[in-house]
This record gives sequence, structure tokens and C-alpha cells, in this order.
Amino acid sequence: MERIYVAVRPRPLSPEESETSPWRISGNTISLSNHSSKFEFDRVFGEDCKTVDIFGSRTKEIVASVVRGFNGTVFAYGQTSSGKTYTMRGSANEPGIIPLSVHELFCSIQEKMDREFLLRMSYMEIYNEEINDLLAPEHRKLQIHESLERGIYVAGLKEEIVTTPEQVLKLVEFGESHRHIGETNMNLYSSRSHTIFRMIVESRDRSVGDNSFNCFDAVRVSALNLVDLAGSERAGKTGAEGMRLKEGSHINKSLMALGTVIKKLSDGAESLGGHVPYRDSKLTRILQPALGGNTNTTMICNITLSQIHADETKSTLLFASRAL
Ligand code: ADP
Ligand code: MG
Repeated sequence: MERIYVAVRPRPLSPEESETSPWRISGNTISLSNHSSKFEFDRVFGEDCKTVDIFGSRTKEIVASVVRGFNGTVFAYGQTSSGKTYTMRGSANEPGIIPLSVHELFCSIQEKMDREFLLRMSYMEIYNEEINDLLAPEHRKLQIHESLERGIYVAGLKEEIVTTPEQVLKLVEFGESHRHIGETNMNLYSSRSHTIFRMIVESRDRSVGDNSFNCFDAVRVSALNLVDLAGSERAGKTGAEGMRLKEGSHINKSLMALGTVIKKLSDGAESLGGHVPYRDSKLTRILQPALGGNTNTTMICNITLSQIHADETKSTLLFASRAL
């Protein structure tokens, strides 16, 4: 695996947060102005950056590599209300990483005249360590299986064949509107669930016709995973108990597992034959093929620069620095 690329995106401060920020950004370094912490990443954006800039700084290349047959994964990591969903799905003002990637994907396959493409998409969530299919709301508590033929897969997950970007984005809307939750609980809910949007790109060399099985590299299958992670804030801090504590601890388990896997991979454990604990959570198990091996991975760390969130921002940056 190539090293994970880490970009940091602060969201603009809201009017209530307009006190002076304790953070200083200089080039690709972000530090506390009292000099107690300093972090350097591949890119540190300013508050006024646009999602297209984030897209251009690495994700666009990842989309191109997926078209060439390599897996690609983009994570949005950060505390609740740091801008993960704004970055991934977008808003009325700005398209997010998902629509930008989908348009880019359809454009680039049209330019590859020598290959024939078949695109599929899936959309799932992990909530309380249960996998739910957002394209088929009746498919709940799905299981992860592994076979020689398919590798690691979510059994029964709907994969819709798609032919236009508009169709893909409509399906995302459908998935969002069918989440099993009332509007009032939506914020709480989305802060506890991981959402995995996936495009599967299958292509065949046109020149080899039906004898493709005799020809090395004639058929390629790769996946682009765009992941909106659960909020990274610690359950203990919000005084959660009972059911909420259970949810919180699952999230921590998944995010901790992700942190450990990413750390092991960046230490080169996989290529050295070491153990990478993918099985420690549903998230890392599902994403195993999209984290190790021939995968290009980017983590977008969404942060807020306000004083009241300084501790959470620091722990987000610490998490991200483990990936480097
Ligand atoms: P998260 O998904 O991390 O919980 P959201 O994406 O829902 O956070 O963002 C929280 C709020 O901040 C939303 O109202 C969103 O529209 C706003 N917001 C986040 N990032 C930006 C940005 N870069 N520019 C403008 N508004 C933003
Ligand atoms: Mg969100």
C-alpha cells in the first residue's frame, strides 16, 4: 500500500464560535498558538477552502486510479458537526466529494475507448456494529462473508447497475430518505453511524473479445469507497449511558480498530508479513480489500478551530498523525 494521504479541512466558525482561535495554520502545519502541539500533514487547508479544492488535492487522482483497476478509499474523519457530511455529500451551495467523484468517474471512463465498462454502486451504513443496506431498506443486519471467488463481501447487499451520474445521485438520495430514523433524531443518529458509498468499476479490454479469460488483465474489477465516518468524539465526554453508551462504545471500537489498522499499514506490517487486525470491527473487515494491497487511501480530517473544541480537534489531529 502507498502511504495514506492526509488532508485537514477546518470548517468556517459559526457566529457563536467567533472568539479567537487557539490554532495557527502555516503552510501544511497546524499548531496551537501556546506551542504545546504541532502537526504537519500532506495538506492543511484554510477555513475558506472549497470542496473542489479538497477533491483536487488527491481524490481526483484516486478516481483515475480506480478506472485503471486499483482500489481507492476516501475517509472523512472528525467530531460531529466538523463538516464530514458537508464534505462528502455536499450541500445546496457546493457539491461534495461523492457527486464530484461520480461525475469524474463517468467522464474518465468515456475517454477510455479501448475498454468496455460496467459500473455498479452500493450504499450501506454500519450502526451499532450492524450493517444495513441503504439501497434496500428491508435488508438489515447483513453479514460479512468471504469466498475465493468474491473475496470479502457483504452478503445480500444490493449492487445497482448504474449508467449515469444522475442515477447514482438519485440512489444516494433514496438511501438517505429511507434511513430508519425520524428527522429529529437524525443528527444523533448520523453522528453514530458510518456510511460507505461504493462504486464498483468492472472493465474489459475490447480488443480481446470473448477470449478475455485467456488474456491477463483483460478483465479488471476495482472499487471506490467514500466513507463518512461516525463522529470521533468520545462517548464518556457527553455523559452517555445505557443504549447511548453502547452505541458510543461501538463507534469507538470501529474507529479504534480503523486507527490500529491504518497505523499497522503505515508501519508496513502487511508487506512485512505482520498481523493487521482487520477482524476487530465491521468497518475494517468490510474495508479490508480497500485498505491493504493495491489501494490508494486518503483521509480528510474535518476539524473546527474554535476554542471550545480544541481538545477534540487535537485528538482528531493525533488520530490522523498515526496514519503518516
Ligand atoms: P458532520 O457530518 O461532521 O457532523 P456536518 O457536515 O453536518 O458535520 O456540518 C455541520 C454544519 O456545518 C452543517 O450545518 C454544515 O452545513 C456546516 N458546514 C460544515 N462544513 C462547512 C463548510 N466548509 N462551509 C460551510 N458550512 C459548513
Ligand atoms: Mg454527518
